[in-house]
Amino acid sequence: MSCQTYREALSARLDGEPLGLPSGELDGHLSACPDCAAWAADAERVTRRARLAPAPPVPDLTAVVLGALPRELPGVRAAARARLATTALRLLLLAVGVAQGALAWPVLVSGAGAMSAPVHMEHESGAWNLALAAAFLAVAAAPRLAAGALPFLGSFVALLVPVTVADLAAGHVHADRAVAHLLLVAGVVVVALLAWRGRRRRELAAVAGRRVPA
Ligand SMILES: [Zn+2]
Repeated sequence: MSCQTYREALSARLDGEPLGLPSGELDGHLSACPDCAAWAADAERVTRRARLAPAPPVPDLTAVVLGALPRELPGVRAAARARLATTALRLLLLAVGVAQGALAWPVLVSGAGAMSAPVHMEHESGAWNLALAAAFLAVAAAPRLAAGALPFLGSFVALLVPVTVADLAAGHVHADRAVAHLLLVAGVVVVALLAWRGRRRRELAAVAGRRVPA
């Protein structure tokens, strides 16, 4: 084997890498070959000097870098506010759904509501109102459903409000029953807000997706 091979193995040993040949064989050659022994001594000295040499002084830029950072990353505060608003709307809708369910359930079970309507009309109206409560609760649990629920909920309220006003004027409905409809209006407004926020978020995400290269 040539001296070059042993010197490569020596280099590897100094760098802590695999030698590529038995360690004893390398030591055997070093004790038999004065040239390689001298080369090994030189190499060790150079390696040692390089490792012990002081690093060039580098200015401490910690304070400068930290000072240059923005107090908050842009958009973080806005995103936190948006999340908080969505959570508040969901909690509000949860409350509306529970209240709506509490109003509708007894009518559905007993058929005895505030109106003096035939029993089946009461049952049907109870089922209908309970379904609305279920829709509110579903959107509160999964706001992505808001847009899908809106055509039905929105048309119901859009029809209910004018007929209720007319019925109130004509004395066909008790005021307490009419007031209970305000709960429905509040619920539909919250669903509409959640649908609008969800759509806006998707649009912003789409814009960001186009701008950020893949
Ligand atoms: Zn040699």
